[in-house]
Amino acid sequence: MTNLILFGPPGSGKGTQAAKMIEKYGLVHISTGDLFRYEMGNNTPLGLEAKSYMAKGELVPDSVTIGMLRNKVDAHPDAGGFIFDGFPRTIPQAEALDALLDDKGSSIHALIALQCDDEEIVQRIKKRGETSGRPDDNDEHIIRTRIQVYKNETTPVFDFYDAQGKSHSIVGIGEIEEIFGRISAVVDQLQAK
Ligand code: ADP
Repeated sequence: MTNLILFGPPGSGKGTQAAKMIEKYGLVHISTGDLFRYEMGNNTPLGLEAKSYMAKGELVPDSVTIGMLRNKVDAHPDAGGFIFDGFPRTIPQAEALDALLDDKGSSIHALIALQCDDEEIVQRIKKRGETSGRPDDNDEHIIRTRIQVYKNETTPVFDFYDAQGKSHSIVGIGEIEEIFGRISAVVDQLQAK
């Protein structure tokens, strides 16, 4: 089993790279942002709760997010591994993920962090906002809140896995294929072990 965390600020290209990784490595992709948007689209109680936080660029509470993630992992008992995208975003989420995988006799093998500077991110998200239909992509104030939340609450997750010797930094600027090549180099090396 290979379990990867695709990490990085909003707009750093996690979704784009995850799609390529699924194709190459046959892993199950779990994006908490996509899951919340699906719930919102169906007006479920979970979706309605998430909406109030997402609209402001804040994090959905850990208890809600962790419960949803656990259900999704449990729904794939035969998975050859997972790509976690947009999760974990806080230290309690990382601890919950480690415990959940430990219960299954598994663990996280690597955290791959896409590095991208703030101004590039703001420009990319605004451009995505022209077609994504995401309200949180169409307001610069909300975009900057998301970047700040990432710095305050999410970057400690990099250090959490770095302390386990699992964090890898990748330059997230350049051509999509070029960035994918950098990610593949990390994953291929893991799988060769
Ligand atoms: P991006 O990475 O571009 O910000 P996502 O789709 O990953 O987009 O997340 C959008 C929003 O969904 C976040 O701003 C947050 O409100 C919510 N969200 C997604 N994942 C999590 C998570 N792991 N914990 C808490 N909130 C989350």
